[in-house]
Amino acid sequence: MSEKRLYNFSAGPAVLPLPVLQKAQEELLCLPGAGASVMEISHRSKAFEPIINGAEDNIRKLLNVPANYRILFLQGGALLQFGMIPMNLFGKELQTVSADYIVTGSWSKKAASEAGLIGRINTIWDGKAAGYKRKPVSSELDINEDAAYVYICSNETIEGVQYQQYPVSASASKVNVPLVCDASSDFLSKPVDISQFGLLYACAQKNAGPAGVTIIIIREDLLDRSPDNIPSLLHYKRLAENKSMLNTPPTFALYIVKLVTDWLLNDIGGLDKIDILNREKAALLYAMIDQSGGFYRGHADKEYRSVMNVPFRLPSEELDKKFEAEAKSAGLVTLGGHRSVGGLRASIYNAMPKEGAVALRDFMADFQKKNG
Ligand SMILES: *Cc1c(COP(=O)(O)O)cnc(C)c1O
Repeated sequence: MSEKRLYNFSAGPAVLPLPVLQKAQEELLCLPGAGASVMEISHRSKAFEPIINGAEDNIRKLLNVPANYRILFLQGGALLQFGMIPMNLFGKELQTVSADYIVTGSWSKKAASEAGLIGRINTIWDGKAAGYKRKPVSSELDINEDAAYVYICSNETIEGVQYQQYPVSASASKVNVPLVCDASSDFLSKPVDISQFGLLYACAQKNAGPAGVTIIIIREDLLDRSPDNIPSLLHYKRLAENKSMLNTPPTFALYIVKLVTDWLLNDIGGLDKIDILNREKAALLYAMIDQSGGFYRGHADKEYRSVMNVPFRLPSEELDKKFEAEAKSAGLVTLGGHRSVGGLRASIYNAMPKEGAVALRDFMADFQKKNG
């Protein structure tokens, strides 16, 4: 076991900014002013208020969230949203409405299948036959005018396929269908115009904090769709009315989200800045792949390559395994691809320092020299 921090390319839960961990360590035994740790105080106490409110304010500032959007902090991860979205947004006409799903990889596929347990789903685009290498463009999409919503996943974490623009927004707004987005793995990685979405959500453990809290940004008018007969903890409107505190929220996870968003605002200087840093890191790795003469093969078509997750393969599975093991010895860890697709994957979220991407790039060059 290593005693020192390594470059951790985990897809999630993922690397957190070092200054955030240091601050949490500093305050672990005693949150200033509280006389106890953040885990030992009431979520309704004066000491906790600035944490949950601060996390919300920070997210509002970072993303310029318009005033007619509410921010919720819920539990159950992204997967619970796969179910809560149809439960709430189908509204009272569950029997008669349907929703449009754009399936661009493993996570949107799973979301469509979970939503299908609740109501009727139309898959209006499916990238499976083409190996989930790209996203659709507007002209390929035919959104049903009376769909309850259109669902997309902005960044497919497993396949490494990301929208550079959201092609459905124009067409969706033309027919006035709200766009719903799973942004779990690119949330807060770049500026995004929230007004093009009806609902955007992200589990925290990729880019915004630890596992245990999920952030939902929802346009106010959509809250009125929640039917009365669903349990309160699954009911967006009741959750919003109670400021995400119908019951005890995940206090420690929220505290870390507050620190991560403080770091983004104050240390990094906002989402324009982190976007530049993220693109630099991704460019290093994709350039290495492109210059390797086919030794390293990426997955996504170039225009849809993810800035956050870089999956790649070597000429054989044996070499994949050898690469992963030797990288580990060199202090570059968690580079295995998702269990469903194999290969390798470097996740380079906000908190991965540029030095980490440089170290991986250099290792790739060296490995190719020895094994190519
Ligand atoms: C990680 C991830 C999920 C699943 O998140 P959980 O919190 O484990 O449910 C869903 N969607 C995307 C895009 C993800 O990256």
